[in-house]
Amino acid sequence: MIVLGLEGTAWNLSAALVDESRVLVEKSSTYVPAKGGIHPREAAQHHADHMAEVVGNVLQAARENGWQMDAVAFSQGPGLGPCLRTVATAARVLSLRFGIPLVGVNHCIAHIEVGKWNTGARDPAVLYVSGGNSQVLALRQGRYRIFGETLDISVGNALDKFARSVGLPHPGGPRIEELARSAGQYIPLPYTVKGMDFSFSGLSTAASEAARKHELADVCYSFQETAFAMLVEVTERAMAHAEKKEAMLVGGVGANRRLGEMLDIMCRERGGRFFLPERKFMGDNGSMIACTGLIMLRAGVTTPLGQSQVRPGYRTDEVEVVWA
Ligand code: AMP
Ligand code: MG
Repeated sequence: MIVLGLEGTAWNLSAALVDESRVLVEKSSTYVPAKGGIHPREAAQHHADHMAEVVGNVLQAARENGWQMDAVAFSQGPGLGPCLRTVATAARVLSLRFGIPLVGVNHCIAHIEVGKWNTGARDPAVLYVSGGNSQVLALRQGRYRIFGETLDISVGNALDKFARSVGLPHPGGPRIEELARSAGQYIPLPYTVKGMDFSFSGLSTAASEAARKHELADVCYSFQETAFAMLVEVTERAMAHAEKKEAMLVGGVGANRRLGEMLDIMCRERGGRFFLPERKFMGDNGSMIACTGLIMLRAGVTTPLGQSQVRPGYRTDEVEVVWA
């Protein structure tokens, strides 16, 4: 089986073909805001401008190699409305043009499924941290339940906001990680865990203020230590509560080495196992949509045209995980 996957929930437009065992081809085009953060309509325009080129390159590879597609998977949500609509329109056209079914994929679930596929994790508690989301999830009674999540902004968004406020380019995460390595001391910042949920808005603001009085490297380091300790605490509690022996880190912020290291330590201390997917599967990518689409298709799940409307607020626990 071969499935085409289209991703474009936010900044990255990406198309990929996968079969059961590997990624056959992936092409992407990244929207970079001229200034500030992501502007939804500008990002959607970027996707529209580059759709023909990105998808065209993947289809050309399919023709050259004689790959026959069995379905078109697309990220149906959650994400930015205008971006989702652009991608869904392209997916519908391709489905009609090739006479193959559509598979509407939940973007968060795609991060989890590609992570499991890539690492061999079987039933992990998942920490999903990205520019748009921060959640702790685990499979329970046939659905990916959300055990904890942010009460305001995502951790990636908090890192990017702080970075912008101190004049670092977007996205801020990688630069903050780099600066944190040369820190000399920890500066106390607000640590906010409420029940199983966390909050990052106050931390981001406090860090911006602290940067006026302290070395930037020290603030970057303290931001990471504080935010990541919050995430690790909730992940550990989810593992205990849901009786999971594995943890997995996914999403763009998962590229951060320090966060992976902290989760690894936590898992080892409780006799569990930690799984970290390859970097190319961490940020938003077309392969994760194709991979999840293929798993769903194999389980007999397809999306009729009339139910292919985009779902900007699509929650993971709305999806019945019939393939698990
Ligand atoms: P995503 O939405 O999954 O594509 O992830 C994008 C987010 O990941 C942005 O907020 C980035 O700042 C963040 N990010 C990327 N690399 C790193 C890193 N090394 N450390 C922390 N955050 C990162
Ligand atoms: Mg994502």
